[in-house]
Amino acid sequence: MPARYDLHTHSLRSDGTTTPAEIVAEAAAIGLAGVALTDHDTVEGWDEARAAAAVHGIDFLPGMEITTKHDWRSTHVLAYGLDPEATALGAALARVRESRLGRAREMVNRLAADFDIDWHSIIEAGEDRTLGRPHIADALVSAGYYPDRGAAFDDVLHPRSPYYVPTYAIETLDAIRMVRDAGGVPVLAHPAAGRMSRPLDLAALDAFAAAGLWGIELDHPENREAWLPPLRERAAALGLHVTGASDYHGAGKSNLLGERTSPATTWQSIRDLAQVKR
Ligand code: AMP
Ligand code: FE
Ligand code: FE
Ligand code: ZN
Repeated sequence: MPARYDLHTHSLRSDGTTTPAEIVAEAAAIGLAGVALTDHDTVEGWDEARAAAAVHGIDFLPGMEITTKHDWRSTHVLAYGLDPEATALGAALARVRESRLGRAREMVNRLAADFDIDWHSIIEAGEDRTLGRPHIADALVSAGYYPDRGAAFDDVLHPRSPYYVPTYAIETLDAIRMVRDAGGVPVLAHPAAGRMSRPLDLAALDAFAAAGLWGIELDHPENREAWLPPLRERAAALGLHVTGASDYHGAGKSNLLGERTSPATTWQSIRDLAQVKR
């Protein structure tokens, strides 16, 4: 069997439910040749994952998933092998994390009017992880209001909910440029995710490519198959690389580690280009 690599995973450093080391161990156990850790807006899990990869004898690629927006559409940019000390990007990410903390606090305040939960644990957790709605979902699940994160999202955490509060997001074009400036490789995450009302429009993809986008995650469990052909065609015309990955969140989502993957050629191309190669 050819070597397979999973380029998109989340740990407890953001909204996954397992540690970076556990993700690496699981990747080795299911026979992946390598795995990237791409927690939301943080590099905090890199050292642990790197050490675990050495123990388990598989490859590791340091990455993250950046919270961005373009024309009011929420967009996610995967970034691989960037210099974690890069100042412009680092400052922008700090602002994203800070906003996420205040936003979680505000959503919790609104929910506390109708749900009887001890919220302190959520806010305190923001010290060591990038906070998101999934952490609020977990509190609602623990208190018995919902069976799982998905049910909490569907009922009270979605963007049209009265409890919803938006969070700061970097302009996608700025994020792509900052990732390049930081020696990283930017890849557009899940451009046809079924939770959106429509796929990313092709003009936006043109603009992202002009700003330095390297790749596009067309093989993702949540991409809607019917939306893919025009994106695939335009990506090819623009010379973008196509990636595949699972977006694993441990028990937080149904996505299974390694259910979508990329081949060795893709992995190696990213590594060749990246400033931080492992
Ligand atoms: P936030 O970062 O606070 O905007 O929350 C968005 C994150 O929640 C996404 O990155 C996903 O990881 C997760 N998410 C979105 N929808 C769901 C869902 N239905 N079930 C579980 N997790 C979800
Ligand atoms: Fe997530
Ligand atoms: Fe995402
Ligand atoms: Zn993700």
